[in-house]
Amino acid sequence: MRDADPFVEWVVKVAQPCNLACDHCYVYELRDATWRHKPSVMAPTTADRLAGRIAEHARHHALRRVRVTLHGGEPLLAGRTRIERLLSVLRQELRGTADCDISVQSNATLLNPHWMELFRRHGVSVGVSLDGGREANDRHRRAKNGRSSYDAVRRGLELLRRPENEALFAGLLCTVDIASPPVQVFEALLAHEPPVVNFLLPHATWEHPPPGHDPDRTPYANWLLAVFERWYTAPRQETRIRLFENIMDLALGGDVRSESVGLADTDFLVVESDGSIELSDSLKATRDGGAATGLDIFAHDFDTAARHPVVADARRGGLSSLAEECRGCDVVRLCGGGLRAHRFHPDSGFANPSVYCADLRLLTTTIRDRVLADVALLRSVS
Ligand code: SF4
Repeated sequence: MRDADPFVEWVVKVAQPCNLACDHCYVYELRDATWRHKPSVMAPTTADRLAGRIAEHARHHALRRVRVTLHGGEPLLAGRTRIERLLSVLRQELRGTADCDISVQSNATLLNPHWMELFRRHGVSVGVSLDGGREANDRHRRAKNGRSSYDAVRRGLELLRRPENEALFAGLLCTVDIASPPVQVFEALLAHEPPVVNFLLPHATWEHPPPGHDPDRTPYANWLLAVFERWYTAPRQETRIRLFENIMDLALGGDVRSESVGLADTDFLVVESDGSIELSDSLKATRDGGAATGLDIFAHDFDTAARHPVVADARRGGLSSLAEECRGCDVVRLCGGGLRAHRFHPDSGFANPSVYCADLRLLTTTIRDRVLADVALLRSVS
């Protein structure tokens, strides 16, 4: 049987619990409850098996570089000893085979000098989830006792931005809330001098549409375009915004590997704390077990996972994976039907346009038209 395209990234659930209780969290607050039956942290034997499986995959496909993202819950709850062991075994298994870019996606509330010393030693970059300034952030990202998380995140970010650590700052991840003023949110994020900002649309499906959803209105595009305008017209580049850059690259004919826009296949898998192999976390928004594959790293290698119909179907890009309405859409090469989870309806599965269809159409066409007009202008004066 022909090998499917290899995976190059693994999202590793080193800890299931979280010390915050964000109300938009796709792990704990949506349809999926499989986390209840998983170990709270990844055991050393599971970590060893994972590192071995990644190295085996890299050797088989002659991969020169792979990526591992430590994720949760809150990954720092796994503790330094456990994380350091995983980092060491990953480096050891991959030595002489592939370079490994390792990052951690954290809420930053538990970051301290000991963590940063460990991350410097192992070259682990740190991405931080933050939804804006104090008011915007605390609207959703609160501690379990209801207290604000903002000051703890700010302290973590100050530590991360110290000269000895700043090279490890991977950027900020912000979930869009249309109730917060977009430019104010963006400028509050900019105050932390992130090298990259990534905006996520709230996880939603046709069964559970996002706040303010109305197929005839475009509140999410309007929100994002206000940020785009502020970012694109700044006199100097203050940060990179992955979503906008991806749409711009696609508009200029480039290839973009993204879950959110474009038509490319995805190239990553999730490995849970018990070693089970799962699909993108966003699919947890669709139904209980929505990201499950039935495979695990003890019994299955990643090539077996790539050939599994559930995995192959979920990661496949291209027109054939889309609803008829998307296949005939004039912006499908830019939009790609959006995130797979956002197409879900309990009656028709994923064979639908995105629940954000109107927003995606306006967002992609506005950015495309703006960029192409500027390219044409540049050409006319050169
Ligand atoms: S804009 Fe709508 S119809 Fe067009 S590709 Fe995107 S989701 Fe599909």
